[in-house]
Amino acid sequence: MRYAEALKLQTRYFYASKIEYYMTRIKTLQLTIALAVLSAIGPILAAEYLAYQQGLRIETEHVLRYVNDVIHRSDRTTYQINESKGQIQAEFPGQACSEQMIARMSTIALEKEFVEVIGHMNGNLMDCSSLGWHSPPIDLGPPDQTTRVGNSLRADLHFPLAPNVPMVSLDQDGFVAIANRSLSIDLSDEEVGVRFATFTPTTGEIRSSNGTIDPEWLTRLGQEKQISFITDSFIVGVGRSEDILLTAAVAAVPLSTLHERVNEFTWLMVPIGLFSGLILAALVAFLARQHLSIGTEIKLALRRKEFYAVYQPIVRLHDKKIIGAEALLRWKRQDGTTTMPDVFIPEAEKLGLITKITHQLIELIEKDVRRHFNDYPNFKIAINISAADLESEQTRPLIKKLAEKINGECTVEITERVLLDAKHSADRIEVLRKDKISVALDDFGTGYSSLSYLQTLQFDYLKIDKIFVDAINTQAATNHVVLHIIEMAKTLGLAIQAEGVETEEQARFLAERNVEYAQGWLFGKPVQASDFSVVFVGAIANYKE
Ligand code: C2E
Ligand code: CA
Ligand code: CA
Repeated sequence: MRYAEALKLQTRYFYASKIEYYMTRIKTLQLTIALAVLSAIGPILAAEYLAYQQGLRIETEHVLRYVNDVIHRSDRTTYQINESKGQIQAEFPGQACSEQMIARMSTIALEKEFVEVIGHMNGNLMDCSSLGWHSPPIDLGPPDQTTRVGNSLRADLHFPLAPNVPMVSLDQDGFVAIANRSLSIDLSDEEVGVRFATFTPTTGEIRSSNGTIDPEWLTRLGQEKQISFITDSFIVGVGRSEDILLTAAVAAVPLSTLHERVNEFTWLMVPIGLFSGLILAALVAFLARQHLSIGTEIKLALRRKEFYAVYQPIVRLHDKKIIGAEALLRWKRQDGTTTMPDVFIPEAEKLGLITKITHQLIELIEKDVRRHFNDYPNFKIAINISAADLESEQTRPLIKKLAEKINGECTVEITERVLLDAKHSADRIEVLRKDKISVALDDFGTGYSSLSYLQTLQFDYLKIDKIFVDAINTQAATNHVVLHIIEMAKTLGLAIQAEGVETEEQARFLAERNVEYAQGWLFGKPVQASDFSVVFVGAIANYKE
């Protein structure tokens, strides 16, 4: 009955801890995924933004290049009309049509890429041209305007021989040159939907275009040489000719072209963004796991009682008899691996879990004392505590209770770092000593301002750190420090315990200098309490079988 109940409890407990474990894991996972998504999206968004900026810059350059091309072609048309008209005029000044004149006109028209026809005029009538004799003569109609230098301009000429081609003509002193107006906007057709137009900047009148042009675009130019802007559906460029006052051009590239280009760039950037995002995400996941799991794992280890104590013998150096042991923690994980205290104690201290661990350790020691160590007369048990333990209102009474259960001595080992972190370490140590608990200063010489601690605080033992023991009889710079430490401890009336003694030579050196106690692999590695008597039985002081 009681067994069944216990089993039920245990099962419930098992599942409770499992659920907590998985909840934490799920939370970690969610956080990790969120961070991963963020770190993947970030670079992609940045890539998208850069792609847009880049696309806009390129398309704006593109549209302005169109504007300049159109202006250039328009200017060349104007030049060529003027040139061809001037040429024929110079060769046949004031003359009537002749075969010679017609032949010359044909040659000049062929030479000029934008000029279609050169002709001889009688008023508005063309009686011969590069195309031959015209009888009856062709009526070009009245000119739209006369320019400042006396040229007659027909900006929208419908030449009767090709009425569907928009032409422009300029004539003076009996000669006319006719050009195809659309040639100036006849740019490459590689891009669909691009619109071009030439216009007269003074009036805003469109001269030629390949599509609808919003008149408002033209007015935006004002007195500028060149401008560009974005409308709802176009990137627009507008510019004027530097050479010919009456020439200006507009070009408009549909926004869809920009979007296509942005997409191209984005797709180029997305894999890079994705890749760096993945690496970031993996890093985040790794860190999150590392960071979040250790706390959870320690909590679970406490619940599952995965911590256990091992004991390392402390010997009296003059006869090498074991007078006690230092309890050291071990963590046996579910996967069978053992984690050493160097790894989890600092984490537990950071996460505020150390007092819980110490409480469990005290419980473990109490059991071991009852079952094993109280068999040995005057046996000493040493326990390591952290700053939080020294401060804790719960830990100190537990230590006191433990000390009462030990037939021999109970020693608390604290490091200088613990003293720095604890607020009233002097008071705390005094209380411990009043409760008949001895206090050892651990790892002496590895912390700060060691001397001042020695003078102001009341210790019973001073533990010489392994690094100074290692230096004994070597060429190390620290090889003489051990002598100073021994001297100092003697002056202050402290008992000395050397740590990490591994060789007979070190043991002899220390014994010759009246160091009372030692610990180290030379005398014994830490073992579980149940093994202690098996391994060390002959060496335990006062032990009677
Ligand atoms: P510590 O208190 O200075 O403990 C001595 C460490 O040196 C132990 O390592 C011990 O196994 C090791 N050691 C002893 N003799 C020799 C030797 O001859 N050669 C070598 N190479 N090593 C030797 P461990 O058990 O890994 O403990 C490491 C540290 O973890 C301890 O240093 C102590 O600061 C901390 N620690 C261990 N158990 C506890 C605990 O229950 N509570 C607290 N707060 N800290 C603990
Ligand atoms: Ca210690
Ligand atoms: Ca130590």
